[in-house]
Amino acid sequence: MKCNKSKPINDHLLRSWIRCRRKAWLEIYGDKQKKLWTAHSTLQLNHQIDCFHTLSQKSFGIGIQACEEGKNIAYGIRIKYPLIKNRTIKGNLPILRKTSGESIWGNFSYQPVLARQGKKVTREHRLILTMKGLLINNLQKYQVQKGLILHKENGVIKVEKIRLTDNMKTELIDSLLNLEKDIESKTPPPITSNRKKCTVCSWRKDCDAIAIKEGNLSEVSGIGAKRELLLNKIGINNIDQLAKIEHYKLKKKLESFGTQHSDISQQIILQSLSQSTHKAIRLTPPKTLDNFKQAKGFLIYDIESDPDIKHDFLHGFIRISNNISNEINLKKIKYSPLLNLEKDTESSLWKRIKRKLNHHKNLKILHYGETEPISLLKLGLRQGASPNEIDDLKKRFIDIHLLIRESWCLPVRNYGLKSIAEFIGFNWEQSHTDGARALLWWRQWKSSRKLNNIYSKNLNSIFKYNRDDCIATLMIAKWLIDQECIQSKIKKPV
Ligand code: SF4
Repeated sequence: MKCNKSKPINDHLLRSWIRCRRKAWLEIYGDKQKKLWTAHSTLQLNHQIDCFHTLSQKSFGIGIQACEEGKNIAYGIRIKYPLIKNRTIKGNLPILRKTSGESIWGNFSYQPVLARQGKKVTREHRLILTMKGLLINNLQKYQVQKGLILHKENGVIKVEKIRLTDNMKTELIDSLLNLEKDIESKTPPPITSNRKKCTVCSWRKDCDAIAIKEGNLSEVSGIGAKRELLLNKIGINNIDQLAKIEHYKLKKKLESFGTQHSDISQQIILQSLSQSTHKAIRLTPPKTLDNFKQAKGFLIYDIESDPDIKHDFLHGFIRISNNISNEINLKKIKYSPLLNLEKDTESSLWKRIKRKLNHHKNLKILHYGETEPISLLKLGLRQGASPNEIDDLKKRFIDIHLLIRESWCLPVRNYGLKSIAEFIGFNWEQSHTDGARALLWWRQWKSSRKLNNIYSKNLNSIFKYNRDDCIATLMIAKWLIDQECIQSKIKKPV
């Protein structure tokens, strides 16, 4: 691999590096054909446009000329400056806001602005803001003291002022120097041990394949960055080694680091055994499935949400009206999408959901994970459901995710709906879709529904996706029952 000494570092590369050192390296040398498209970057860009829109003023201009003319807002400035020795640092400053000061243009200066998603200001936001601050300082020959971070909370744009301290500047320069070292290396930095970051990364396909090939411990469900380090300390460096160690030995070794580690020693050994042999391992004692094995039908329920405004915009249901161990004809399954256009139309939504639930009051409700019952019970409480109604509803939920976790160790990296469905062989009708993509479709549909016919196309894609989430939950439930039948036949004396 040829290293690239002349490649300028820009804010995009620094952002990638802060997230994962390997990602920055791959952005330069990686095979772009292996990169996946993710909806996250489009969501981020749309969010940034929304945030910046609130700062818009009558007095604005484009480029450095806007600063020379003392406009309140300057858009679209690109600057380069050697913030570290022998290396040009490029900054894309989509928006600068005029503030007090003494710049080369007069008795005013400009401060950097960025938009953030997520719950709080992170190191990434601070360092990127500092980098933009240092670049504008060099241009205007004045030290700006603060930058602005904008974010959306419940639909309202909030502005936070962030002091650009000397410590942050030192940390930024150290980071740029380390980033420079990484991109001058001929080999990529290791795969991050915090694999949660990989879920939204466009390089995940490539990295997953390498991690599996190398047997990285971070591949094992239940092993995060900290636990991986502890396992390395006691001489366990890959999945095979973990799968082969005896339980009592591992438990003893991990005891010195705390019971939270030693208590799950058996679980991580079984998990690594399942992953290294590619076999499903049934846990003992097996979880009894009697409460839904005999049932003559189910409702299966899945929600789509917009987390930024805490809005569950779609409550999807499918219904099957026979025993789950029978053959299921997916084409005949009836799907009911209950759309909640705005947050303040909850009362009619609750009435529709209640009607559906009462109409099928003998049917249990299958769902995958905690989100669905929590959201539905909260909705009921907000809409004045009685304690009896809430109790009755609680008794109807069956969490398939919990049943899988309690009954099986599976050769998967995580126990999310997509991973388990993939393991049992279920495919979504629309490939490369996920919750972020559905959210993007929803936002696009909402903003365009009165203008053109993207209206129905995007909404149909959301319905298809949500219907498939429900069917995936159903098929996992069926898999659980089918496995139980297979096991009982094996045990039956001939
Ligand atoms: S997939 Fe994970 S390890 Fe690979 S570059 Fe992305 S964040 Fe880093």
